[in-house]
Amino acid sequence: MSLIYDLHCHSTESDGTLAPAELVAHAANQGVSVLALTDHDSTAGIEQAAQAATRHGLTLIPGVEISVTWERQTVHIVGLNLDIKNKALRKGLNALLEYRDVRARRIAQKLEKTGLKDALAGASRFAQGRLIGRVHFARYLVEQGKAESVRDVFKKFLVRNKPGHVAGQWASLEQAVGWIVQAGGMAVIAHPARYRMTATRLNRLIDEFKQAGGLGLEVLSGSHSRDEVQHMTAVALRHGLLASVGSDYHGPDNPWIEMGRLPAMPTQLTPVWQSALWPQVAA
Ligand code: AMP
Ligand code: MN
Ligand code: MN
Ligand code: MN
Repeated sequence: MSLIYDLHCHSTESDGTLAPAELVAHAANQGVSVLALTDHDSTAGIEQAAQAATRHGLTLIPGVEISVTWERQTVHIVGLNLDIKNKALRKGLNALLEYRDVRARRIAQKLEKTGLKDALAGASRFAQGRLIGRVHFARYLVEQGKAESVRDVFKKFLVRNKPGHVAGQWASLEQAVGWIVQAGGMAVIAHPARYRMTATRLNRLIDEFKQAGGLGLEVLSGSHSRDEVQHMTAVALRHGLLASVGSDYHGPDNPWIEMGRLPAMPTQLTPVWQSALWPQVAA
């Protein structure tokens, strides 16, 4: 029987709703055998997840999803198989966490101008002392009756040209890929179809990504349609990138995304786990 891989998901250490150990238990229930925990800009949940993985008999891949600003657009780079103690990685992620606090204060100020009260305290309550993201603001806005759902908040408040939008100033592509490579990991472009790039722009992103040492493209994603999977299969083949697979699961209140439910890897592709860089234990 072939193994079920899920190499992209989130816990309460970023904007997911399950604690790392709960997330691992859920993955095991869904039949996942190799799981990467990839919280935004943080590896704080890895140790807890790894302990839970031992109990549940699945393989936990230490991962992260790094926020990058590339040509004024936010792009996410997943790092897989990381030495989470690596100094360059630690320093880089710490800088991003500090920036998240700066950005949160700016978002809060902007939202308060729309009449929302105590925006920073409210969002911080949802973040529970962990890193703060737009989703935590969104949950607070829903609680305060400013929108019907988290999705609705993004549309009305948190994206470009909306009152709570703050343009991100994240890591550069070169930095993010560099930290991952220095930590012995493999860099993968997350959910490539979500960026809505023209072919020329996507080619440029991939060229720069490869130049920096990047190796993979997340062809199969919980946020990709069948057509997008086909498109990204062709892109991966054309650029000689390894293919990754990740649900981008954030918890059970996102019922349209589940773990262990993605289609099979197209046979023409070379999956990331067939690379020599992949640890033997998870092969
Ligand atoms: P941040 O890194 O704090 O800017 O937040 C990015 C996260 O917000 C993504 O990883 C998603 O979890 C969430 N997100 C982004 N866009 C949307 C959307 N349109 N609807 C719901 N959640 C979204
Ligand atoms: Mn997220
Ligand atoms: Mn992402
Ligand atoms: Mn993600």
